[in-house]
Amino acid sequence: MIGSDRYRTHTCVGAADTNGATVRVAGWVHRRRDHGGLIFIDLRDRSGLLQLVFDPEAAPQAHAAAHRFHNEDVVSVSGPVIARDAKNVNPNIPTGGVELRVAEVELLSSSDPLPFSVEDETQEASEEVRLAYRYIETRRPKRLRALEMRAQIASVTRGVLEDEGFLEVETPILIRSTPEGARDFIVPSRLQQGKWYALPQSPQLFKQLLMVGGLERYYQIVRCFRDEDLRADRQPEFTQIDIEASFIEPEDIYRLIERLLVSQAEAAGVTLHAPFPRLGFAECMARYGTDRPDVRFGVEIQDWTAQAAASGLGIFEKAVEAGSVVRGICLPAAGGGLSRKDLDGLVTDAQEFGARGLVWAVVGEDGLRASVKGEFLQGLAEAFGAVQGDLICLVADTEDAALGVLGSLRVRLAERYGLIPEGAWAPLWVTDFPLVEWNPDQKRWDARHHPFTSPRPEDIPLLATDPGAVIAQAYDIVLNGLEIGGGSIRIHDRDVQQAAFATIGVDAEEAEEKFGFLMRALRLGAPPHGGIALGFDRLVMLLLGEKSIRDVIAFPKTSTGQDPLTGAPSEVDDDQLRDLSVRNVPPKGPAKAD
Ligand code: ASP
Repeated sequence: MIGSDRYRTHTCVGAADTNGATVRVAGWVHRRRDHGGLIFIDLRDRSGLLQLVFDPEAAPQAHAAAHRFHNEDVVSVSGPVIARDAKNVNPNIPTGGVELRVAEVELLSSSDPLPFSVEDETQEASEEVRLAYRYIETRRPKRLRALEMRAQIASVTRGVLEDEGFLEVETPILIRSTPEGARDFIVPSRLQQGKWYALPQSPQLFKQLLMVGGLERYYQIVRCFRDEDLRADRQPEFTQIDIEASFIEPEDIYRLIERLLVSQAEAAGVTLHAPFPRLGFAECMARYGTDRPDVRFGVEIQDWTAQAAASGLGIFEKAVEAGSVVRGICLPAAGGGLSRKDLDGLVTDAQEFGARGLVWAVVGEDGLRASVKGEFLQGLAEAFGAVQGDLICLVADTEDAALGVLGSLRVRLAERYGLIPEGAWAPLWVTDFPLVEWNPDQKRWDARHHPFTSPRPEDIPLLATDPGAVIAQAYDIVLNGLEIGGGSIRIHDRDVQQAAFATIGVDAEEAEEKFGFLMRALRLGAPPHGGIALGFDRLVMLLLGEKSIRDVIAFPKTSTGQDPLTGAPSEVDDDQLRDLSVRNVPPKGPAKAD
């Protein structure tokens, strides 16, 4: 390891193995205990903690200096590392069997009082303050470990991909915008006044052009930028593991990503078993109400429309007559201890997910408790195979709405009632997505993935006649209910690309105007190709058991896209604006939600 003996000969944890040798270590004063005579300091560096002992008799100068140390002062000390008395051994830290008896000390940098404690992680400051002093927060062992693991997982990623013959290629950051469905960040050009660059939402078109360029196997651990509302644990800049390959089929991508994820997970101490199960989109929606299902637990959605239509229950019969479907879930043992209030609360949960109402039933000791009366529910409970304590939830609505509500409720209630097995990992491929989806506001078809995704060859004729029925050669990879990646086989034929554009309302002229460079490339020898991108931040977050992607990003932004540390975004000098021929106009008011 590089490092100067002037400051240290060993790391804190490395020093523990030196058996009586005199060593020098350097780091931060993590905690100090002044026992009248002896002073104990836990010294912290990236490797961990080491106990230092200052003895007023053996080393009076060092002891006097230690007396004046504050938490988080940076010091370098030297002395012998010796075994602690048996009664002082701390089994909780790797260096707990030894201590360094300090002979000499040097204060390298002193610290003012801190805005929050490094040592006491329970003493939580607001996120604003923690991000403003992110470098203090980073010193916490848990945060350091997260960044170490992130680096480790990136390194494993490079190893696997390079072993598979992938080349890491950088693509530009100042680009013409690539549609990925989000808003672009844009950058004014000084040299071409009145023109703007966009920051890449992903390197999609560049990686495709690299395939036309003969690279065959490309990857990049790359920053992407999307100007979206940040409510749901998103960041305006995030990192993807971006992959593209020529002469491949979806099976090749599945095998590659399974190998990659198994290795990445292993680096984080998690075991995943390949091959991963696969589920077609339509079946996935019907069974789980979402295209990123958490399959660590069962609780599948069931169709009870036919039974509900003949149930004798007015609410159901009328709903079905009016064209609604009735779908339900049965949560094992979830209803046991629930009060009437808890059960009524389920209706509020369902409404939060957009339901107009919810019928619940619990199998109790003395029969069924339910929000509506009727024989029907008894029969249903039996058909579900429900046993005592099980909770049944039913929703009558349009198919999309009923599935959406139950899909969300399924996960919320499984979390609430502990139905997700501890330590379970459930990766899943979702395949066979529709190519396009109807945008009722704009009254047009939109690409579901992006407009460069290839239809199944047999569906190409449907592009013009029945776009909604076209199935894409697209796949998502889902882990524990979170989408961690997605990709597709791309269109490599200009006529198909033109037809795909036409389906989403981009005519030949607009295609030429916006994507002329792609259309030209597709005429000049484009190999069949496809790829995928994995959300790196989210993957690392999941593997480390963190709650937010901010926990695995060194310098994240707040939910309003600000960086309290540096104060970005900030105003700029008028001169800078003048150089760009850009003028500030009064703000529009708060940004509208997407
Ligand atoms: N560019 C896509 C995305 O960022 C991924 C892909 O199709 O490879 O989602």
